Amino acid sequence: MSPSEETRAILEQLGVRSGGSLESRSPMDGSVIGSVTKTEDIPGACDRAKQAFLEWRTVPAPRRGELVRLLGEELRVAKEPLARLVTLECGKIVQEGIGEVQEMIDICDFAVGLSRQLYGLTIASERPNHRMIEQWHPLGPVAVITAFNFPVAVWAWNAALALVCGDPVIWKPSDKAPLCAEAVMAIARRALERFGDAPEGLLQCVQGGRDAGEALVADDRIALVSATGSTAMGRAIGPAVAKRFGRVLLELGGNNAAIVTPSADLDLASQAILFAAAGTAGQRCTTLRRLIVHESIADQLVARLKTLFSRIKVGDPREEGTLVGPLIDEAAFNSMREVLGDAIEQVDSASGGFYVRPAIVEVDAQKGPVLKETFAPILYVLRYSDLSEAIALNNAVSQGLSSSIFTNDLKDSERFLSARGSDCGIANVNIGPSGAEIGGAFGGEKETGGGRESGSDSWRAYMRRQTNTINYGSDLPLAQGIRFDVAP
Ligand code: NAD
Repeated sequence: MSPSEETRAILEQLGVRSGGSLESRSPMDGSVIGSVTKTEDIPGACDRAKQAFLEWRTVPAPRRGELVRLLGEELRVAKEPLARLVTLECGKIVQEGIGEVQEMIDICDFAVGLSRQLYGLTIASERPNHRMIEQWHPLGPVAVITAFNFPVAVWAWNAALALVCGDPVIWKPSDKAPLCAEAVMAIARRALERFGDAPEGLLQCVQGGRDAGEALVADDRIALVSATGSTAMGRAIGPAVAKRFGRVLLELGGNNAAIVTPSADLDLASQAILFAAAGTAGQRCTTLRRLIVHESIADQLVARLKTLFSRIKVGDPREEGTLVGPLIDEAAFNSMREVLGDAIEQVDSASGGFYVRPAIVEVDAQKGPVLKETFAPILYVLRYSDLSEAIALNNAVSQGLSSSIFTNDLKDSERFLSARGSDCGIANVNIGPSGAEIGGAFGGEKETGGGRESGSDSWRAYMRRQTNTINYGSDLPLAQGIRFDVAP
């Protein structure tokens, strides 16, 4: 079946009506597979979200969790068709499309538990008969701006937490993946119907390009802008939100490295490198882009990787055995060609899609394109002689998302994870830098934006902290022992 025929069938199955001026193309063959209506009234959406907030913030958090539990159930029912739509609209192989929807289900489960654990603190007061506490309140409407490469999971990471924290969500999906967003909203509507009394405007989606994102960013009814995308996008959004003293959660570009030490298990390392560098056609923020290998094993490892890379099946992401699907569009292909020139290996150029063979490029120094995030499957290989040098190379880029070390030497791995080790938000041992679980806080430092979402205590970004001091005595002792008495 052609991508457009299959998309039509899936949209019908999921209850999504296609139509409107914003077209969606499949990266598989470049054909138009559907369209959506561009949202004109973004202030109206912000207003509805603000109204919804006034009500939703008073709903007990465990009851809010019930909505997320229902969302998880509806996602389970729709898992296969939604995953297939991810494949059709973004080109991910079937396994990865299913994995992306599984992540949505996992974060729903996490958030349901969290809805009974939005814990504050009890703080020891310096004053007699005083009690201090810290509590967390809902923050306000959250705008979630997402990138094309995780067209459904990133919304779920944000929405599941925001909902249990008491916040309405307005989603601005990538204009390269508007159908996935419509499908998720149809699934969410089924959960809302079953829940019964959620306020109108609790979960909304606005469709459009950069201008739609900018309108959300500028609106002071939006308490938090959670934006996932390129560093250039974050560089525009950060100051715009700061200007109105709003809050941001930025998840931006990465330029991730892996160090392979002489003691590494090379079978394990090469399998991990294969997935991390070539998986998702190099279009993950956590994709492995720089391999830093000890000089004593570099020839051996590079030879192995070249063999493995040559065996990767590139092509139709729906076909059994395909490991690498198409790049998202021609612009992505051109950015890869800019680096590789004539060495770029295009596969199936007659298909209308941009299919490329993942490339390995050995370099002497970390400069030029090696310092940039080219959103395509290019793995640069650098050699090192001393671990300090390798860690310095890992850290000597402006991005700080993910990193890993392959080693069987405890001292090396602990050094890599220590304060003088990797400077990234994620640092792994004996697994690649990509493919995070939802239980940990996800995000990175430096030009990756500093935000953390998903697991651990990331929920705090969606709430406001309040410190309370309660005097249950009859005297009024002031803090720091200050005396401020006037004779009565
Ligand atoms: P992009 O920056 O082109 O677009 C991302 C989103 O931001 C889109 O919805 C877009 O319409 C919107 N946007 C762009 N400029 C904006 C502006 N000035 N104001 C408001 N909204 C704006 O990114 P992309 O090409 O869709 O995705 C690839 C990039 O995303 C890569 O750099 C990748 O590393 C990054 N990414 C990061 C993470 C992470 O968690 N750190 C996850 C996925 C992708």
